[in-house]
Amino acid sequence: MSYTANPDRYESMIYRRVGKSGLKLPAISLGLWQNFGSLEIFENSRNILLRAFDMGITHFDLANNYGPNPGTAEETMGKVLQSDLKNHRDELIISTKAGYHMWKGPYGEFGSRKHLLASLDQSLKRMQLDYVDIFYSHRPDYETPLEETMGALASAVQQGKALYVGISNYNADYSRKAIALLEQMNIPCLIHQASYSIFERWVEADLLDLLHEKQVGLIAFSPLAQGLLTNRYLTDIPKGSRMNKEHGTLSTQNLSQQTLKKIRLLNDLALARGQSLSEMAIAWLLKDPRVCSVLVGVSSVDQLTQNCASLQQTAFTSGEMEAIQRIVDPQE
Ligand code: NDP
Repeated sequence: MSYTANPDRYESMIYRRVGKSGLKLPAISLGLWQNFGSLEIFENSRNILLRAFDMGITHFDLANNYGPNPGTAEETMGKVLQSDLKNHRDELIISTKAGYHMWKGPYGEFGSRKHLLASLDQSLKRMQLDYVDIFYSHRPDYETPLEETMGALASAVQQGKALYVGISNYNADYSRKAIALLEQMNIPCLIHQASYSIFERWVEADLLDLLHEKQVGLIAFSPLAQGLLTNRYLTDIPKGSRMNKEHGTLSTQNLSQQTLKKIRLLNDLALARGQSLSEMAIAWLLKDPRVCSVLVGVSSVDQLTQNCASLQQTAFTSGEMEAIQRIVDPQE
């Protein structure tokens, strides 16, 4: 069926400025790490992407290796861009990344100029795009001079293949250096993409403060801890869930009795707030204005719709905040 975008798509989404840049991102962005590759049903992936756009989600996050199979999430995005979203390119923020393993040999991963720029060309081809909006170094590479990696990001902008650049999974110390190097080249670091959720709090140690000081945006990935912070595993491990899939990146080891107990207590707390657990987990991130966007992954349109409902209530009482803390870290 041919697609016509919802004329009211900008009515209910909230847009937040990314650091000190001119760019705003939707409070909820959609990631294509899983559920959009060649092993999925294309129509389901397409429906999710189009429903997201209809709900005001303008930002779609990819990487060279997203699938499975690697590269095929970008192909799916490319197909949908061609068939349905062609006339909306200027309404979209498409990001991609390079750094994790993508092809054989010494240039297929990490942070060399060779890997980053060759990978970006491949990504553009797969997505049938002339440029991406954000190009990331996907992970730090301590064996390649940081000057070279940041220089490659700067070149991507200078060549017109990316509008902005970002870093992902860099610790605070390395982020500080990367941000300074990009500044010297007059190519500001727009954004840092880091894992952050009620369960995963490493950014709170020093990265959040650094990014705030440097006015670089933080986009939080795996906000639902890959599905743990939802009702998905409250009673069992459903067929087709990430934990149940052969190529899934969650295992039963991630669901200890202790973790399950925390999930159930958090679920009770969410219900008492009048939200589902996934809504509360996303709202919990959005309560902090330093988080410019929350990058969710979904396997269905229903999950996406539910996650967007989190925007209706992002405030927490101090009592709720303390209760969440006590559940997550009963020792404190
Ligand atoms: P989430 O923590 O949002 O987990 C997504 C999974 O949670 C879904 O696949 C689904 O599981 C489940 N889920 C989502 N919504 C609901 C709901 N309402 N009810 C029940 N279950 C739900 O994020 P991801 O781990 O998928 O990461 C999101 C994005 O972040 C990625 O697509 C990618 O763009 C980015 N990312 C970046 C990384 C990096 O290194 N820079 C690393 C990892 C992610 P199910 O499939 O079982 O239905």
